Amino acid sequence: MSEKAPAKTHIDFAYELDLVVKHDARAPLLDREFGHYTGAGVPLFSIGGGYYRYGLIDILARFHARRGYYIVETPIIASASLYELSGHLHFYRKNMFLFKIEDHDFAIKPMNCPYHILVFMHEVARNRSKVKLPFKIFEAGRVHRYEPSGSLYGLLRVRGFTQDDAHIITPRDHAVESIYNVFLEMRELMEKLFNLEVNKDTVYLRLSLSDPNLIGTEFMGTAEEWKAAEGFLETAADKIREEYGIPSYKERGEAAFYGPKIDIIMRLREQGIEKEWQLGTIQFDFNLPRRFRLYELVKDVYGYDEVYIIHRALMGSLERFLGVYLDYYKGRLPFTLAPVQFAIIAIQTGEENVDEKIVNIAEALKEKLLRAGFRTGLISTSKTGLSKEVRRIESTSKPAVLVYIGKKEVEEGFLTVRPYSLRERKRKNIRVQLEPDPVAELSSIAEELERGVVEIAGYAPRIPADMSYIL
Ligand code: ZN
Repeated sequence: MSEKAPAKTHIDFAYELDLVVKHDARAPLLDREFGHYTGAGVPLFSIGGGYYRYGLIDILARFHARRGYYIVETPIIASASLYELSGHLHFYRKNMFLFKIEDHDFAIKPMNCPYHILVFMHEVARNRSKVKLPFKIFEAGRVHRYEPSGSLYGLLRVRGFTQDDAHIITPRDHAVESIYNVFLEMRELMEKLFNLEVNKDTVYLRLSLSDPNLIGTEFMGTAEEWKAAEGFLETAADKIREEYGIPSYKERGEAAFYGPKIDIIMRLREQGIEKEWQLGTIQFDFNLPRRFRLYELVKDVYGYDEVYIIHRALMGSLERFLGVYLDYYKGRLPFTLAPVQFAIIAIQTGEENVDEKIVNIAEALKEKLLRAGFRTGLISTSKTGLSKEVRRIESTSKPAVLVYIGKKEVEEGFLTVRPYSLRERKRKNIRVQLEPDPVAELSSIAEELERGVVEIAGYAPRIPADMSYIL
């Protein structure tokens, strides 16, 4: 092949590809890079999905632990009597999977709350007032609920999902602060891990309140309890509005029968279309403390009984969140959770001695990145096949960082590195010198992409894997 002034280098092609990769290309939902549907309405997280789950749950555990939550893991199977005690067997029965083992009735856990309350009561019974209130319990809790097959919808509606679930048992004088803190947690997680801005244009709060005329009939608990809890929610919402300008709307009569709540709604705007997405929720519960005789225990140990149980989630469900996120970012995840973090693209020339150098550098690089803990893949292509290959991986595995190595790089001693910016929705171009140690510089590019996670969780999980076959 003649070498007379090639009009375009492979980097020029790469630049063009960012324009070529259509932003409205269908997002690879679960059935490609992340997993499969099994037919039972429960997603199977395969290669890709597995890294998302393990990485995310690790981050969530550390994030919550640093904010004073205790971490638990409660069983998937429960004695049906637990849900009889909680009342779910009565008012939630049609959504529960029930079965027998040796003539005893069991349920697949539809909610984590009863178990969390048992944990709290056990700790208090044992350690008495050494257990400080507010007491906060977190679990990435997997629950299963019956949904008719017709209502199943991708990752958005499944029969088995994982809640980023926590329960806060708080005395009256810490209730507002507890609610406000949940908002701050949600904001940190969305901004630092997921690159989703939380401000007055992107988020609003929906307060679901009682109909005062129906307290005691449709809404359980006392008028005083409802008044106090709704007051806490409104005060916290006012504070959020003052500090962040985030508006809130009240809906009278829309509360659950067991207590009022705030839902945190995110608006995702894209190409003129706005989609609303319910993220977190903060719910009071007047049902469970009565059924578990929690007030009596608290009164006995702490000398007062004005405590509240708050259920809360920041993401909602890990499955649904993944579905909406992949849709919004067209199949891309933040660096820490991406199935393929580094994709090394070796561009062969046909010149034997040059190609040998390219392959050697590319393979050594892959090994070092794997050792540094990154999910890394390596593919070889020719200069003419490059644009097709890049277009293919940009529409399938969508690596977080592309690393090009070709003739020019070998001759001039550098790598062309192209990390994807979720904020700008495009790749930028960084030149990394091959000497003395390109991996040190690639690691610092990674650290920059991991910085938000480190801020909120104390570290960024690295789960290495050779992803070459997926590229
Ligand atoms: Zn709950």
